[in-house]
Amino acid sequence: MGRFIASENIPVLLTRLATDGAVWAPAELPDSGESVVFAPWQPGREVVLDRFTQMSPKELVLPMSERLLSFSYTLTMEGEEMEVESAIPGGHTVIFGARACDAKALVVLDALFHQDPETTWSDTQYRARRDDMTVVTIACVKGTADAACFCSSWENGTAEKAGSDVIIYPVPGGFLAEAVTIRGTEVTGWDMFDDSDQPLPELDTTDVVDFDGLVEKLVTPGVFSDLDFWGRESHKCISCGYCTYGCPTCYCFNIYDEMQGDRQGERCRSWDACMFYNYTVETSGHNPRPTIAHRWRNRLGHKFSYYPANQGETLCTGCGRCIRGCPTGVDIRDILRAAGEHE
Ligand code: SF4
Ligand code: SF4
Repeated sequence: MGRFIASENIPVLLTRLATDGAVWAPAELPDSGESVVFAPWQPGREVVLDRFTQMSPKELVLPMSERLLSFSYTLTMEGEEMEVESAIPGGHTVIFGARACDAKALVVLDALFHQDPETTWSDTQYRARRDDMTVVTIACVKGTADAACFCSSWENGTAEKAGSDVIIYPVPGGFLAEAVTIRGTEVTGWDMFDDSDQPLPELDTTDVVDFDGLVEKLVTPGVFSDLDFWGRESHKCISCGYCTYGCPTCYCFNIYDEMQGDRQGERCRSWDACMFYNYTVETSGHNPRPTIAHRWRNRLGHKFSYYPANQGETLCTGCGRCIRGCPTGVDIRDILRAAGEHE
């Protein structure tokens, strides 16, 4: 049996959720030509659940820029001492209105950032945010996926539940809700949903890309060494980097120290992107990925070969943002299909 909440009660639900921490939900970015992004919800702010967000909620586990630690040097009678203080984020976060592909992307990132700290390693800041997070996903019911979506390439498609705590399904007059995790049933405001015997609505299906054999094929010399192929396939790309910044699973970052004088400073982390020329420039000036062809070969190889081989997850969930938002019309599916057909 599902649970039902009327549309007019959604602001009340969000107000209740906000008593427990920050609530981030899709909202129109002012003066942006109707762009929708995840933004901190405040009473009176309209939640936009029927359009795709341009940026994913990835920044809630991996912010665009963050302080990792502060450090300072002190001169003592014994010499110079260094003090280090880690920046540990705190506070509960609710992501409200993620799509199934964005919720699944968190699980894909977990495979790298949230490993077991007892046996391997785990990213302190990522772990702190992820451990205290509830994800309420809006289901892609019939008619809501678009031509850029290709999550049906994976077994569960739009019915994917990994990464979600609660899934809400739009129905006439409101939303049916399904709790996926224990956290989902404990989420603040769950008591606002009434029992309902309405059936869950039919989900949409999307375009399908066949990844069969790609993990191995992308690293075979025939495909990997054919730079003319990568040049042809990526000839429209201008290296702007949107496809990486907008992607829910791209996680490249840069770490640098911001000094405040010469005795103290902060170590910071900011998003970076493998599509940028400077990303791989070495201290000598040599760049092992000097052309867009080199960088696209790496982008596809990382997402569909190296990461699955090393972490057990494909570094893509078929959200379609890189296709919808590319200023020059590059479609990652065309390149994947061409690589799959490469002799
Ligand atoms: S968004 Fe398009 S043009 Fe920009 S880096 Fe990605 S593929 Fe290239
Ligand atoms: S590569 Fe493109 S389709 Fe895949 S998750 Fe990233 S933005 Fe979405």
